Amino acid sequence: MLKTVSGFDRIGEENAFAVLARATTLAQGGMDVINLGIGQPDFKTPQHIVEAAIKALKDGHHGYTPANGILQTREAVVRRTLSLTGQEVSPENVMIMPGGKPTMFAAITMFGEPGVEILYPDPGFPIYRSMIEYTGATPIPVPIREENSFAFSAEETLSLITPNTRLLIINSPANPTGGVTPKAEIEKLVKGLEQHPHVAIMSDEIYDVMTYDGETHTSMLQYPEIRDRLIILNGWSKTWAMTGWRMGWSIWPDQLINNVRKLAVNCWSCVNAPSQFAGIAAIDGPQDDVALMMKAFDERRLRVVELANALPNVTCSVPKGAFYAFPNVKATGRKAKVLASELLEQEGVALIGGPDFGILGEGYIRISYANSLDNIERAMARIDSFLSK
Ligand code: PMP
Repeated sequence: MLKTVSGFDRIGEENAFAVLARATTLAQGGMDVINLGIGQPDFKTPQHIVEAAIKALKDGHHGYTPANGILQTREAVVRRTLSLTGQEVSPENVMIMPGGKPTMFAAITMFGEPGVEILYPDPGFPIYRSMIEYTGATPIPVPIREENSFAFSAEETLSLITPNTRLLIINSPANPTGGVTPKAEIEKLVKGLEQHPHVAIMSDEIYDVMTYDGETHTSMLQYPEIRDRLIILNGWSKTWAMTGWRMGWSIWPDQLINNVRKLAVNCWSCVNAPSQFAGIAAIDGPQDDVALMMKAFDERRLRVVELANALPNVTCSVPKGAFYAFPNVKATGRKAKVLASELLEQEGVALIGGPDFGILGEGYIRISYANSLDNIERAMARIDSFLSK
């Protein structure tokens, strides 16, 4: 029997991948499965981005790049950050990462160890808690409530900070709820954080431009007073439909950037070179495809909410960001994970039970509307007939 470190006994998973695997198996067995489970755009990466990667390969970009990323890619991130947030950052503080998740890994392993507390949103992206547990730190859930439109509450967040808190993780626009935290709440949080200079902040802003109804995202970068302890997680996966390219970026304060660069040297050396060229094309090129994708998401969002509210014993508030709806299924009298599993096995509809995003996810299901309107309508009709039985 081999003995591994105890962290691996505590490490969790992202159940969306298990649901995807089961959905694929059922589909291979002949079932007509509609997948509203996985969190990735159903669009292809825009063609000019693909071509930039092909050109980079043909031009001979086959070797290592600097561990923190090609300077031009980091400069593209700087330009995007400036145009979106009005804030100057130095390319020296930008890390090109192999996706969004590695920034979580880097930040959480940099601060987590036994005896330390790390605050994270619940319901929230499951990898936050999983990685916190891996490090042996104590996970402290920050409740995200439907009554608060799935925004985080600054007051509640601040009330959970103790002298042992080292890291606060926030996410807006949010997975799995689609919640967008208003600017006033973010300002309240920043103001309160002045009293807690020992707390670092990781702000997961991967859905930053994915907002609706005129809602705008407020980046934590807009507050210079916390810049020296702020880590921004962002990336190409969602905005440019590039989940399989494994391309992300993060922005780190001076006091941490060398740690993450060393982690890259020790773990992955650098992100593959052609993808980094594709990343420049994504940021600097035309954004028409992004606009078309967002228009489609918006249309589906409204339809999903309308159809969810017509289901027996289900209510669904209107999500303001990302591409998820988080209907409340408490009145169905079923446990959310059981319902999700029955819908997949019996009706061929893949979605995720709320508890896969934390204890407070009980009573909700996550529907990813990154699927065609036709499939969404068919899936919702199946859910309707299942719940009407
Ligand atoms: N953060 C959030 C909130 C996400 O929803 C996701 C992906 N579902 C990620 C980070 C990870 O992105 P990536 O696939 O680029 O690792």
